[in-house]
Amino acid sequence: MSIDFFGAAAGGPPGPPTCSAKGCTAAAVWVLVWNNPKLHTPDRRKTWLACAEHREHLSQFLGVRGFLREVVALADWTEPPAPDERPTEGS
Ligand SMILES: [Zn+2]
Repeated sequence: MSIDFFGAAAGGPPGPPTCSAKGCTAAAVWVLVWNNPKLHTPDRRKTWLACAEHREHLSQFLGVRGFLREVVALADWTEPPAPDERPTEGS
């Protein structure tokens, strides 16, 4: 349950990452990093993936809500998505 608005589930079938936009199966090329301050602690990071076509759409969706933190090219995205729905614990 990491994708709250579009219903696509993260951790789905293996394979090339695809766009998080509803109904889109295009390969993702962008990582949209976002945080909902009403739900998440400030250091929490959620990610959506976007194809070239949906980058702007998804960015605006997050941006108008004040959720969007950064947009990173998937090729430059090295940090794996943090496990979702799991309380933060120390090591
Ligand atoms: Zn797309």
